[in-house]
Amino acid sequence: MLDIAALAKLGGVKKYNADEIFFNAGDPGHEMYIILKGRVGVYITSIDGFPIMVTELASGDFFGEMSLLEGQPRSATIGAIEDTIVLVINENNFEQVIAQQPSLAYRIMKGMSSRVRQLNEDLGQLKRGKAEERKAHKLTAPPTVRTPATQVLDNSLFPPGHKPYPLDAPPNDNNLLFDREVLCPVCEEKFKTKNVRSSKLRLDKVDYDLRQRFVDFEPLWYLVWTCPNCYYSNFNFEFKQVPEAFKKKLLEQGKQLKASVRLQFSDPRKLDEVFVTYYLMLQSLQASGKPNPTEAAKVWLRLSWLYSDAGDEEMFLYASRQALDMFKDTYYNTRRDTSVEQDQRLSLLLGELSMRIGDNSEALKFFRGAIARKGGNNTINRQAEDRISDLKDKILVQEKKAEDTE
Ligand SMILES: [Zn+2]
Repeated sequence: MLDIAALAKLGGVKKYNADEIFFNAGDPGHEMYIILKGRVGVYITSIDGFPIMVTELASGDFFGEMSLLEGQPRSATIGAIEDTIVLVINENNFEQVIAQQPSLAYRIMKGMSSRVRQLNEDLGQLKRGKAEERKAHKLTAPPTVRTPATQVLDNSLFPPGHKPYPLDAPPNDNNLLFDREVLCPVCEEKFKTKNVRSSKLRLDKVDYDLRQRFVDFEPLWYLVWTCPNCYYSNFNFEFKQVPEAFKKKLLEQGKQLKASVRLQFSDPRKLDEVFVTYYLMLQSLQASGKPNPTEAAKVWLRLSWLYSDAGDEEMFLYASRQALDMFKDTYYNTRRDTSVEQDQRLSLLLGELSMRIGDNSEALKFFRGAIARKGGNNTINRQAEDRISDLKDKILVQEKKAEDTE
């Protein structure tokens, strides 16, 4: 245990109010913090600026040590969940703090060494090709003989090219799930659904297209909730009040859908069942007459990730193209009340999706557009510059190939 009273005497004690932000991901910083009292959330930002809490830290925990020790930019956003008192450690008082609390040095070192160990393991596995093997193992889970619990009698729910995908969620997903009772905002019936304990998720990395990869868990499989009574479907964090005007339409649509889709979830969940929830959500969006294409774009982007995991390259590109068209619609046609940083993110994503479907000139345009001269996020600026150089390399290789075949 840390001697909080003794530490507080060293100075640098600061109070943050509930909801106050310590720093944002990508910010430069040279301090680490020890929580003396209170709780903070560790957040990463989803594609549309929606903060997702990946873990919670409490009294005695510390954060920001990589910035203090290695001058790295902040890797996540930290915000106070309740009024929180911290000790701020910088180059000036670091030695004093360690002298006062040697156990802290030990804990920081332990944290760092487990990070280094993880890195070494990853590298070792890459060398032996184990990482691929591990991935393949997760994706081609034991071939299933049980028929999926969900039966789709009318394939018009899916786009042409969608196939059955015999993949199961790993059984230990259940460790990170709990049953939650939800009130359907459309039919007003209560139902139980699987919910993710987001405080237990550990972020591994964020892909160029802003997909968040978590250690041994894929929250996308549980992201869309479907009411088993009326089939209203939405992202779990948006499963709330629906305007009265749309309820009737959604209920009518639900009746029709129920005639062709028998929705049930296996335990562990099957990918085919997950796809049904996403396609039902697209139906719900249509019935609720949303003029904003962003919602559907978010669904298609996630569908592209699911198809990618299922190894269906053709559907991966199809879903990516859908997402690209709709995000473009948002970019050009929707009045957005967004920050410079959110615009940068959207432009970066548009570049990424354009590059993916092979539209190099569009990709270049959007990557360039993601670089903000003023008031932007520097991490995004850097990423956009990196991607421009990757893209130029790719174009050179393609041109070389074309020349060789001539
Ligand atoms: Zn309902």
